[in-house]
Amino acid sequence: MSDCVFCRIVAGQIPSTRVFEDEDTVAFMDIGQVNPGHVLVAVKRHADNLYALDEAQAAAVARTSARVARAIRDAFAPAGLSVYQANGKAAGQTVFHYHVHLLPRHEADGMELTWPVKNPPREKLEGYAEKIRTQLA
Ligand SMILES: [Zn+2]
Repeated sequence: MSDCVFCRIVAGQIPSTRVFEDEDTVAFMDIGQVNPGHVLVAVKRHADNLYALDEAQAAAVARTSARVARAIRDAFAPAGLSVYQANGKAAGQTVFHYHVHLLPRHEADGMELTWPVKNPPREKLEGYAEKIRTQLA
């Protein structure tokens, strides 16, 4: 039996309240429910994080996230919806099996994310971009 809690949920060894599943993904209610309608979309085959997804998993997560987000919108009519996904402890990841939060939002709902912009000059942006482009090539 896997030590990974989400692998155990996928396998049905831990109960979950599912809303959708397909070949590569499962969507289920987050037990914490930051706001009503808060859903997690997870890959079925274990991947620690975004870096570990294969092309099919990445595509499936995007497809399922959009589909379930529209259902949450239609079911709960939230004022907004945040998509939250963390990779690594420093980013706030606590379950090391890739998943995306679909979080219905309301004005003053207590959810906060600080966004400490640095606004670097254009030359800095070009330097950062070149480092990434080099890795993509
Ligand atoms: Zn897992």
